[in-house]
Amino acid sequence: MQSGVGFIHETLPVGMLGCNCSILGDPATLEAIVVDPGDEIQEIVAILKRHNLTVKIIVITHAHIDHIGGASKLRALTGAPVYMHEDDSVLAENLAMQASWLGMATPENPGIDTPAKEGDILRAGSIEAHVLHTPGHTQGSISLYLPTHGRLIAGDTLFKGSVGRTDLPGGSFETISSSIRGKLYTLPDSTIVYPGHGTPTDIGSEKRSNPFVRA
Ligand SMILES: [Zn+2]
Ligand SMILES: [Zn+2]
Repeated sequence: MQSGVGFIHETLPVGMLGCNCSILGDPATLEAIVVDPGDEIQEIVAILKRHNLTVKIIVITHAHIDHIGGASKLRALTGAPVYMHEDDSVLAENLAMQASWLGMATPENPGIDTPAKEGDILRAGSIEAHVLHTPGHTQGSISLYLPTHGRLIAGDTLFKGSVGRTDLPGGSFETISSSIRGKLYTLPDSTIVYPGHGTPTDIGSEKRSNPFVRA
């Protein structure tokens, strides 16, 4: 949980794979963006209620089940549109296969209400999230950069000391390397990175010491 003056940022690991869901809110306008509501929608809704937030948009960084699994439920409860890159549509249509790999029930594919595009700026009150298309872990993977708050929500593209796996359908190490070098390592070193799993890091540390992709 990280909340500051004029900004709410709550993170919680959801589901059996511990996908980090982010809730970004403006405490003045009470508008919010929810990123990767993979599961545990009741927990997410409880946090939204605690801050009196209204969800403007549901962002899916990529269509792996641990990130997209609860999106349909959250949309039904909030009426907010689902925002995702179209290059992950095929993955989203294969949720039954992803569920069978994990031995879990198949969640509903929410589809895409608003297609994500490089350069889009998502707004919730004073919060501005710049959309970066960062393929490699999946073809439609996106990251969100919040320049005002110096934060990056990286999905499964960049982790503390690691990068997203590229051995699943649609993955490419060459592509993820160029996404990270070209679009993430060009952000300010002080940018705090919130990965899709595990603990936060910062761009400067990963540029210096990430064993998979160096600056
Ligand atoms: Zn993933
Ligand atoms: Zn994941």
